[in-house]
Amino acid sequence: MTPQQTQDRDTRVDAEHPRLVVLDRDGVINADSPDFIKSPGEWHALPGSLDAIAQLCSSGFTVVVATNQSGVGRGLFTEQTLEQIHDEMRRQVNQAGGHIAAVFVCPHAPDAGCDCRKPLPGLLRQIEQKFGTTLEGVPAVGDSARDIDAAMAVTARPILVRTGNGRQAEQQFPDRQRPEVFDSLADVADALTGRNS
Ligand SMILES: [Mg+2]
Ligand SMILES: [Zn+2]
Repeated sequence: MTPQQTQDRDTRVDAEHPRLVVLDRDGVINADSPDFIKSPGEWHALPGSLDAIAQLCSSGFTVVVATNQSGVGRGLFTEQTLEQIHDEMRRQVNQAGGHIAAVFVCPHAPDAGCDCRKPLPGLLRQIEQKFGTTLEGVPAVGDSARDIDAAMAVTARPILVRTGNGRQAEQQFPDRQRPEVFDSLADVADALTGRNS
């Protein structure tokens, strides 16, 4: 198994000046499940998330997804199935008028000792390498403390959403370490694109 899969068949990036935004997948773009998302049919976008991605794209953001998918390492689904799930995600995003430039995956089980499973920063470092840039100050949106911790480890701009795990995760941060918090990806997109709802 390769340590990373980068699905970038149709990357459209201004390589000189990518204005990146990094999104976690489960609980941010689609509804999470304690039973894992194991097939394309189990991938259901959260309300407003597809339009939010389209809004970010039309405002000039390059949208990148960084996701822990330990279901691969646990043997619950194959890397090929995960690619099919991401094809479905891309299809729905495209249909809404958006585009995902790349999907970065940690497929490893929690006990595999990899360096890319969030909260470790390896997956975000892979993004830096691919795009030839630092993630310093780049918005990194997640619904779990490990997303926020990974973002902080690379001095990105951590943003927590209250979808998925978010409401629970919000309680885990003492006030002075609390990241920016929004109700949903739609509200994040409004904030990042200067549109007030
Ligand atoms: Mg998540
Ligand atoms: Zn990993």
